[in-house]
Amino acid sequence: MLDLRILNGTLVIPGTGLVNAGVGIKDGKVLMLAANDQIPEAKETIDAKGKHVFPGLVDPHIHLGIFSNFADECVTETRAALAGGVTTVGVFVGGGDSYLGMVDEMLETMKTRISTDLFMHLSIFTPEQLAELPQYIEKYGISSYKFYMCGVKGVFPGVSDGFFLQGLKEIARLGDKFTACVHCEDQSMVDLAFEKVASEKPDGTLADWTEAGSAEAEEAAVLRACYLAEKSGARLYLVHMSSGAGAKMAAKVKKKNVFVETTSAYLSVNNQDSVGVLAKMLPPIKSPKDLEELWEAVADNVIDTFGTDNVSMNKEIKGAEKGLINAMPGYPILQTHFSAILHEGYHKRKIPLEKIAEKGSMNPAKIFGIYPQKGTIAVGSDADLVIVDVDKEVKVDPAQLHSFGDFSLHQGKVFKGWPVMTIKNGVIAVDENNILVEPGSGKYLRRV
Ligand SMILES: [Zn+2]
Repeated sequence: MLDLRILNGTLVIPGTGLVNAGVGIKDGKVLMLAANDQIPEAKETIDAKGKHVFPGLVDPHIHLGIFSNFADECVTETRAALAGGVTTVGVFVGGGDSYLGMVDEMLETMKTRISTDLFMHLSIFTPEQLAELPQYIEKYGISSYKFYMCGVKGVFPGVSDGFFLQGLKEIARLGDKFTACVHCEDQSMVDLAFEKVASEKPDGTLADWTEAGSAEAEEAAVLRACYLAEKSGARLYLVHMSSGAGAKMAAKVKKKNVFVETTSAYLSVNNQDSVGVLAKMLPPIKSPKDLEELWEAVADNVIDTFGTDNVSMNKEIKGAEKGLINAMPGYPILQTHFSAILHEGYHKRKIPLEKIAEKGSMNPAKIFGIYPQKGTIAVGSDADLVIVDVDKEVKVDPAQLHSFGDFSLHQGKVFKGWPVMTIKNGVIAVDENNILVEPGSGKYLRRV
């Protein structure tokens, strides 16, 4: 007998389209896809009539424990993710020391705490770390490594183009299962722009913050990164594209082995938004025009994936009242990620649901080596599924969200289109925002 079956829903299968069929689940995997009346008995049946069934979203870009406790964030932020329809997360881990030992400790901490599945990317800042790549691969099964062309003030330093190229060559040598990720902004342009904003508008607005990391800084770095990818032959993944100019440059110069991510934040909030300095981020949130151009890049498939760049924090950590320059960059967004994309993409801009599943689930799974275990609805895939009511309207209220953060990037907005149930590993994990699984039900994913 099946463990679970989902009947009468519309399956959103990336690369295939919308299919009216039932799903039979056993031992945490999808065992069959068939006409609804062909799915045999199950211990539990979900009637998804009038709803859409998506593969669980794969958010390839989050951070945990940057400004608060890592162990606690493993619990709260992966629960928020799960409630928002994200069943797998890719966590960027960074620091200046060797990752040997440190990652072991993180894996141990995560074991009893995470509720989504999780894979890791390591940020590479030093020659010592670069030399240890073979050990990171063997010990932890990690196949993606990030370089910062521009640092994050007070958090991470940037690296030189020379070091970045060295890293790219190393990634290329390892083969096509390996991917370099890059934060594209020109360091010198950002430094000068930051100094100007810091001296002239230290208590400025979200729009003033845009000037501290201008679109040109992103555009220039995209051009250089794509050039270096071509020279090295490495697969390259551009994280968090935030500007229309950057996306247009990528469209012009990127070759086949370069992939582009944007975040649901840049697709749903612009620098005129009433959320104000709470939305301070690096790279900064850009203009309404940039937001439209990013959606055009989604429609044209210049953008391959949707991430969040989730950096959770509460208002106390954010410190928005200390003024623009002193406020911390970041916000919790995992739980409203999917809904923001459904509202802004599907409803407002007629982006097809299968394209949303493609960029929100399949492409990140493929690029980071976990497809077809994740990223689709297929026989043999993990039964990580999200049932969505595309017509459900809810006003975002931070009190209803599972993050430890007490504000939301989207607070006060009414979004249309929400996940109503998340199935993780063949088990109903979230039902109407009630989380039914215990911390520790998620797993770490080795990729190589
Ligand atoms: Zn990030």
